[in-house]
Amino acid sequence: MSSGEFDLRSRLGGYLPAESTVPACSRAGCEQPAATRIEWRNPRIHDVERIKIWLACEEHLDFLLGFLSNRDFPVRTSSVHDPVNEAPIQ
Ligand SMILES: [Zn+2]
Repeated sequence: MSSGEFDLRSRLGGYLPAESTVPACSRAGCEQPAATRIEWRNPRIHDVERIKIWLACEEHLDFLLGFLSNRDFPVRTSSVHDPVNEAPIQ
């Protein structure tokens, strides 16, 4: 990160330059930058240490969380800018 100004903006979750590495939303067909990281697992097929990650833009956060909660999967969320929490999802 060469610019302190851009660094500050990214921490505030505002505009990010096009060359930044903010990944896109996981919803099929959506190319908006993700704002939230959804960490989840399927207890039927994943070990407790396994963490699956989806990324959601503001528009699709509720859709993706609803998909997981309908299946009673363990879920937690954080900002895409936060480091991945490697503790098991209970
Ligand atoms: Zn989206």
